[in-house]
Amino acid sequence: MSDAGVDSVKWISRTWNRKNPLSSSRKKRRRISQTLLSFLAIDLDKDGFNSANKKKLKKLQKILAVPKQLIKKSDLPTFCNDDFRTDKGPNNQEHKINGEKAYWDTIWKLWSVAPTCKSMSDLDGYMSFKENPDENPGTAERLVICPSGFGKPDTLSQLRSKGVQEVIRQKVELDDVSEYVALTLFHELLHSQAAGYLEDYNVHTGESIFVGNSNDKSNEDEEEEAIPAYGQVAVPIFAESFPDKAMNNADSVALYAAAMYLHKWSWWTGEAQIPDKESCDEGSDDADCCIQ
Ligand SMILES: [Zn+2]
Repeated sequence: MSDAGVDSVKWISRTWNRKNPLSSSRKKRRRISQTLLSFLAIDLDKDGFNSANKKKLKKLQKILAVPKQLIKKSDLPTFCNDDFRTDKGPNNQEHKINGEKAYWDTIWKLWSVAPTCKSMSDLDGYMSFKENPDENPGTAERLVICPSGFGKPDTLSQLRSKGVQEVIRQKVELDDVSEYVALTLFHELLHSQAAGYLEDYNVHTGESIFVGNSNDKSNEDEEEEAIPAYGQVAVPIFAESFPDKAMNNADSVALYAAAMYLHKWSWWTGEAQIPDKESCDEGSDDADCCIQ
């Protein structure tokens, strides 16, 4: 695995402590409240610092710490390609499950219909699970980052160290940030058992479309292709439509983590902006606002 990716995941998790919305400092909380509302439907301005919000934020804190823990323990089998899943099985035969092409897993010795890096060219990565992962947590899950997941040549920390004006001038968006391998890793690790099996939801119906979850076969008959709540456009739409599910959607949490890591900018619209622009215009004394 790329060192830069692993290193960034550690840093993304760590950022929580410095930008903690549970902080007693109102200023620190305000700086991130728009992102929390837009991505995760947690409204610190309207609902204040009430017990329901406190509970949600504590849960979020726990979830955000998981990728770092998993990377640190490094006992999660991780692959940079999935050549071990082949078109044909041990008897040189192809196989179908419910009419769908299946791939033979030469490590786990089982068939599965989940797409492979080759069969889905824009697949950045995925988590997969053996049957009944709860019976055997830890050893029953596996992470694959596909070749297309290594999209950006430089690293997330390089972007982080860039000047505020430069990133705004380049019109960097969170969707660009999602192409860094660190974010792909972070997203996939949120699907782990340790993070509580976060989902990929259909942005329109709110149903789970997490293909890696072998327990969920409920959407197989769906005729229309499900659009996942991925990225800077779909994540806020999903938070508005399904506020109770937002924190259980892997990309909502991953985008929030990225926005906190790249804390020099405000990202709640998806595009890099100077934080709290409106407050600055009103003559705020917040030092972070005054970068021009
Ligand atoms: Zn996912």
